[in-house]
Amino acid sequence: MDVSDPDGSDRDRSDLASHLTMDGRLVVVAAAVVRSGRLLGARRRGPSQLAGLWELPGGKVEPGEDPREALLRELTEELSIDAAVVGTVRGPGTGDWPLTDESVLRVLRVRLPPDEAVRPGPAHDQVRWFDPWQLGEVPWLPADVAPAQAAAEGVGTWVGFPTGEVSGTGTVIRVQELGQQFGIVVDRTPFHPLDHGWPDQPADEGTLAGQPVKDVLTGAIADDGVLLVGSDIDVRRGDSSRSWVVVHVVAGPAPEPGEEVALQVDSQHRERLSAAHTACHLAALAMNEVTADCWHKDPPRRDSRGNPDLDQSSIQVSRILPDEAHDEYRFGRSLRKAGFDAAGLRLAAYRDRAQSLLDTWVATGAAVRVETGGDPTLTARRRWVCDLPGRPGVIPCGGTHVTSLTQLAGVRLAWEPMADGLLVRTSLGR
Ligand SMILES: [Zn+2]
Repeated sequence: MDVSDPDGSDRDRSDLASHLTMDGRLVVVAAAVVRSGRLLGARRRGPSQLAGLWELPGGKVEPGEDPREALLRELTEELSIDAAVVGTVRGPGTGDWPLTDESVLRVLRVRLPPDEAVRPGPAHDQVRWFDPWQLGEVPWLPADVAPAQAAAEGVGTWVGFPTGEVSGTGTVIRVQELGQQFGIVVDRTPFHPLDHGWPDQPADEGTLAGQPVKDVLTGAIADDGVLLVGSDIDVRRGDSSRSWVVVHVVAGPAPEPGEEVALQVDSQHRERLSAAHTACHLAALAMNEVTADCWHKDPPRRDSRGNPDLDQSSIQVSRILPDEAHDEYRFGRSLRKAGFDAAGLRLAAYRDRAQSLLDTWVATGAAVRVETGGDPTLTARRRWVCDLPGRPGVIPCGGTHVTSLTQLAGVRLAWEPMADGLLVRTSLGR
């Protein structure tokens, strides 16, 4: 069957799937393998003029071979890794990177299973995971310098807020006009942005290069370079087809890409949000524990302490404010069907039990930490962990927190009825 293709898209496809470019040059493929915010480099064993130089691993595409297949084959042969292609690190012009008159370098972004070990094979004598700003510490093949740099910028913003950082310096990697203002992306930042999917904790306040930061948003950069910000983002948080960045909004003048800028978070504002966010988690765990007797069936889910997870089964909205958190729960038909008896929940009595449990926990002064699994990037899966008596409290969370329950002295709970639900206000008495 002959189906004509007036707009030429078949030709584009066949070009992308061929060992030659449309202008007849050979395609060499290379991998930007990224894991936990770090880029994989490999050091050549030979030939002698290349020995000791670093490269993005890859190789030639054989006639008739699809470049993506060729890359996966090379990665298996050279580094014994089983990977998946998730996108492209686009070069100038057509998207490929200049190599020689007869060939181009096509750099594909590759995802690796978390525990996959990477060992040098026949072509390399060393492999290394580079922090994005460490590339300059070693000599690279000249043709790989620019694409490796672009790949390193694509790992996404490293964030310091999970470990409590409030200041630092970062290199500007992108400046985007946002209406009358500018969105500044740096390689690493202490700023906590508003999450686009679950906007519970507001953005940090502070300064970038001495300028007030008006807002801090989550950004997602596609392979074509388009940056979508906040509610415009059209994929799920952490989707591997995008580079995830923190966007600092300033009025301008904007700094230049490549410039190093000082970043300073308003630590007092941060501390009040961190206290409220930590208290919010304790309030949820306390609610789960004291309402355990309101379930007359095995609950659909349990929290880290083994109690029926009323919080995660019915939360609608969570808002963290300085020194205060508001959580709205809906006790609808599906929750009743799941076995929760909202009618048996006498608010005053259960609130008192939750308050007393909360007071007991705060009195222990237990330590609080955020586990990152060694991934410093914005969309890493992080867990809030608090060493509560009996069993630790563990909640997946991307926010900021205090480091000890001693910072929550005087925390107060209010439980207010809502139509078909409950509003929990948790406030720090200070
Ligand atoms: Zn949290």
